[in-house]
Amino acid sequence: MASQDIQTIRLTTGKELKVHTYLFINNEFVPGHGPLIETINPATEEVICAVHSADEQDVDAAVKSADKCFNETWRKVAPAERALLINKLADLMERDKDELAALDALDNGKAFTVARDCDITDSIACYRYFAGWADKIHGKTIDTTFDKWCYTRHEPLGVVGAVIPWNYPIMMGAWKFAPALAAGNCIVMKTSEITPLSAYKFADLVKEAGFPAGVVNIITGYGHTAGAALANHKLVGKMAFTGSTLTGRKIMESSSHSNLKKLQLELGGKSAQIVCADADLENAAIQAHGGIFNNHGQSCNAGSRILVDEKVHDKFLELFLKHTKDIVVGDPFAEDTFQGPQINKAQFDKIMNYIEIGQKEGATLYYGGKRHGDKGYYIQPTIFTDCKNDMRISREEIFGPVVVIIKFKTVEEALEIANDSDYGLAGGVYTTNLDTAIKVSNELKAGTVWVNCFDVFDQSTPFGGYKQSGFGKELGKYALQEYTQVKVVKILRTQL
Ligand code: NAD
Ligand code: MN
Repeated sequence: MASQDIQTIRLTTGKELKVHTYLFINNEFVPGHGPLIETINPATEEVICAVHSADEQDVDAAVKSADKCFNETWRKVAPAERALLINKLADLMERDKDELAALDALDNGKAFTVARDCDITDSIACYRYFAGWADKIHGKTIDTTFDKWCYTRHEPLGVVGAVIPWNYPIMMGAWKFAPALAAGNCIVMKTSEITPLSAYKFADLVKEAGFPAGVVNIITGYGHTAGAALANHKLVGKMAFTGSTLTGRKIMESSSHSNLKKLQLELGGKSAQIVCADADLENAAIQAHGGIFNNHGQSCNAGSRILVDEKVHDKFLELFLKHTKDIVVGDPFAEDTFQGPQINKAQFDKIMNYIEIGQKEGATLYYGGKRHGDKGYYIQPTIFTDCKNDMRISREEIFGPVVVIIKFKTVEEALEIANDSDYGLAGGVYTTNLDTAIKVSNELKAGTVWVNCFDVFDQSTPFGGYKQSGFGKELGKYALQEYTQVKVVKILRTQL
């Protein structure tokens, strides 16, 4: 365990960065008692550095620090004061935007420019959005009987536990920290053991912003140990989770076996993008392309099934292919890179295996399908045509740059195919007909429907799944409900 907290790492650009590798508990960086975890640069397959990890006792310490802070300090801090702190944090993130983006690009393999201009920029906006809510959370006065005064209070839950994945490290953090803090909770977040670095830079900013010790605690560690310890902890009032459906089920079990903590689960998807015959095909091709290939296909809402009216199938495919061919795959730190490597060897192998399965199932491998280069976990953007919705590549979440294209004859048939999925995170339709847009939007069994666009996010609109894509909403005013509990107070006038 004898490693230093601060390590120096070098980017491919030659720039050096100092990173924390200890756990962030009670505003201090402390060694963890779990095994050291080597974090890998997926672009080079080389070790970036080793970070400390949390075991059950570290999780317990983090939760207890959050619980103590909540009871003694944070719950007494005025909402407007919380807003100031969150806004200050956003300002510091703005100042250090490049460094946060570089750490996510290095650790995750996403393009630096995307990390900076999307992930970090949107995260800053998310903190500012929720800072605005902090002093606007309030209950109602409810008239009941003449001699009684009833009102509700929207109270924080106390300690929120969060477990996040590796696909958007800073942003998945923001979606949970921002509403949790605005609503007055303390939080213990377990980052993904695959991308631990940027959150500790964020932790530095939390401290600099002046948050009381214990409000924000950030630990990394393995899911089955640290993640499970958090999900099982009796002082945790709620778990906010983003990741696989399999892990979501385990977190539900943990809640069930421990203290019935509230849950918010944002799980997988197999979202359909429906291209109608009357669509603006050039727009559909551009949007659908981003819909699947953004973040190398590693998005829960990825539009990984494209359903195309057979009348425009060939024309759409031609346009879609053109944009796919334009994708620059390469070094995340090169200016023009759109697609970096997949996150790790396990995901790389899983995706390559699905590409094999697709071919065996009889789909046509229309484009791509191979490893890109010979170093790093790069996979060519891959298009399967002639797909059927009962193929495994159409049903299971591949979580890579692989899209299946399925033909349909009528909008009704398209809806049937789109809804024939265990998942229901998102969906989209491309059409110039308002009736079709309304019909499809109403009929899709999914938590988000995009019309003539895809993968478009706003801080003020809710995001979350139907069916096995999970439950609970992130972002927007709806998210505040997930981080508060409603108390009703009834005061009886006894002297009439
Ligand atoms: P995962 O669900 O195992 O990991 C997500 C997070 O959960 C990580 O922080 C992990 O440490 C933690 N975790 C794992 N087991 C846990 C447990 N028992 N208790 C508490 N926390 C636990 O996902 P993965 O293995 O990184 O990826 C596998 C697949 O999951 C991907 O191929 C993809 O299909 C899906 N996925 C979805 C998302 C999403 O945004 N919805 C993100 C990542 C992965
Ligand atoms: Mn990594």
